Amino acid sequence: MLVKGVVFRLEGELPAEAKFLLEDFRLAVNNAVRAGLQARVTSRNALTKLAYKGFRQEHPNMYAQHIVSALEVAGGVLKNHRRRIARGNAVRVPYVRRLLMKAENQAYKLNRRNGIIDLPIRAGCHVRLKLVLSEYHRRYLDDVSLTLGSLTLLPDRAIVAFRKEALKPFVPESALSLDTNERSLDGVFVKGGEVKTVKAVFPEVAVIQQRHHDRRRRLQKKKSHDRRTSRRLCRREGAREHRRIEFRLHQVANSILAFAEDQRSAIVLEDLKGFRPRWNKEFNRRLSLWPRRELHRIIEYKAQWRGIPVVKVDPGYSSRTCPICGRLHDSRMGTEFECECGWHLDRHINASMNLLQTAISKGVAGGLRFNPGAFQHDVMMTLYEPAMAARSEPNGTSCTGGESSRATTR
Ligand SMILES: [Zn+2]
Repeated sequence: MLVKGVVFRLEGELPAEAKFLLEDFRLAVNNAVRAGLQARVTSRNALTKLAYKGFRQEHPNMYAQHIVSALEVAGGVLKNHRRRIARGNAVRVPYVRRLLMKAENQAYKLNRRNGIIDLPIRAGCHVRLKLVLSEYHRRYLDDVSLTLGSLTLLPDRAIVAFRKEALKPFVPESALSLDTNERSLDGVFVKGGEVKTVKAVFPEVAVIQQRHHDRRRRLQKKKSHDRRTSRRLCRREGAREHRRIEFRLHQVANSILAFAEDQRSAIVLEDLKGFRPRWNKEFNRRLSLWPRRELHRIIEYKAQWRGIPVVKVDPGYSSRTCPICGRLHDSRMGTEFECECGWHLDRHINASMNLLQTAISKGVAGGLRFNPGAFQHDVMMTLYEPAMAARSEPNGTSCTGGESSRATTR
């Protein structure tokens, strides 16, 4: 079963009754967390035995399902806490500050036509919340193959979980192999014996990373006398950076997936797990790996949702091997890969060819065949570039690039 959380804005203010409910819910969670810590239990059942009765007596009117759900949230908080202790991190006693509540699908009603949520507060008291609907939201509400999961309510928005049966990935008719770099995905697209280079460029991601990195540095220096403020400001910078990068990665992933779906293509990526840049003096100036890992995560879950096959391949030696003669070169070269056998090619594209060969040799890309010799050097397809996005770095000027699924041939 696949689950996707879709965020909705709420129309108008949250009704007072709902605000009280959020506060009661938080209270119930924190009470249960405290009780669970004392009794050293984390499971929902144990917490129910421990905390349900007491809370019920104090709040005789609260809808029973909400209390059960609060205990479940508390269980999650406690499990995270326990995990952090096990990892040996410094931990404080967990306390939920954020106002939020969660309701399982039997504890609320959503009218999928008009986007109105009916949320029971207590016997005889329900509130109606109107969701702001866009075309994006309509796609989920109107899709009858999706069922409703839990509802998470925050003071200014609601997150509705949509569930669907996992699709069996289609049998690929082509393959898209991509080498992941700081500013781009570079690779090859193979179909019917033809091999073409493809790329998706996202230079703004590195620019944003660098800018926020510098800003954090400056903040730390400026606020070095006040560590608390410094930490708070840095965290805020980090959250901003996160959001801005995330937005762009989604755009990149969407265009890649639209292309793959259109071409019935399997996507081949390197497995970044365990990959660590070598620690050296330059390390501090290197950008973190997070955006690349995050891009893979986004591509993978979106592909799963749409039934597009994704193959992850161990990248060992992929940047140092010659795909023609198989010779292994001992060090990375410049931008161009060159081999004694006469083969030469852009380093990144060469790496993607090796990824594809590994994928095919393992039989994971269906019955596809691939001949590096049939390579068309002069054809380059751009699957994504910043001009296709609605916003681009740095000044937020908007350029209309239309649907991001467009692929331009140069
Ligand atoms: Zn060679």
